[in-house]
Amino acid sequence: MVDNDTVLKAEAIYKSFGALEVLKGVDITARKQDVISILGASGSGKSTLLRCLNFLEPPTSGKVYLHGKEISMGKGGKPDQKQIEHLRSHLGMVFQQFNLWSHRTVLENVMEGPVIVKGESKAVARQRAEVLLDRVGLAERKSMYPSQLSGGQQQRVAIARALAMEPDAILFDEPTSALDPELVAEVLKTMKSLAEEGRTMIVVTHEMSFARDVSTHVIFMHEGKILEQGTPAEMFSNPRTEPFQRFIADVS
Ligand code: ADP
Ligand code: MG
Repeated sequence: MVDNDTVLKAEAIYKSFGALEVLKGVDITARKQDVISILGASGSGKSTLLRCLNFLEPPTSGKVYLHGKEISMGKGGKPDQKQIEHLRSHLGMVFQQFNLWSHRTVLENVMEGPVIVKGESKAVARQRAEVLLDRVGLAERKSMYPSQLSGGQQQRVAIARALAMEPDAILFDEPTSALDPELVAEVLKTMKSLAEEGRTMIVVTHEMSFARDVSTHVIFMHEGKILEQGTPAEMFSNPRTEPFQRFIADVS
């Protein structure tokens, strides 16, 4: 059953690339205001899981629900494009590599989704984009191009761009992993402020301080499955499985 607070739910997600089975039955539920950190070694299937949640990769099998409504598969197991667009317009995504449009200004990058996808007027989109750029501390950079910004600033633009779509949940895939160490903190601070205002977030991260101090829930993935999950307090004070114990020892 899905309760009213459930934003996004996935059940028994399996994903194979050819003969390689990458996800082996993953369940995940994000309720309103949940901040879920997904941890796990490289290759454990974290990115694939996030991509299955918004059908950037269609799951081989399993179900995804947005606000309790299943994103149904059409004929031949192919997901219905209309439903996927609906799902994506409700889920923000922030990638490791920012993925900003290099030939558009910062402001245009943030306006693009609302104007193109939602058909919003430019005036309304511009106004919201300016508020959001101010929110991530980049109001003064709005006329610059991405290449003129640091990695940390570019990632904050990417976060503003995700927020511009007024998403019900935001998926982050290692948002700080491509950054120079001195730029990580500013992005984590922005993410923490989103968590504090009650945003629903699913975050693949190697930042243990974020997982420990900001998340409401931690998931540890191992070889395509969720091996352990719980509150950060439970997970970090009492890692139960050997792979998670090893993971914590390696990252700390
Ligand atoms: P993680 O994000 O935890 O590092 P990934 O989800 O990126 O792990 O990858 C899990 C496994 O799936 C890896 O073995 C990776 O090589 C494989 N994989 C991911 N995407 C593809 C793809 N598009 N085609 C083939 N194999 C893939
Ligand atoms: Mg990954």
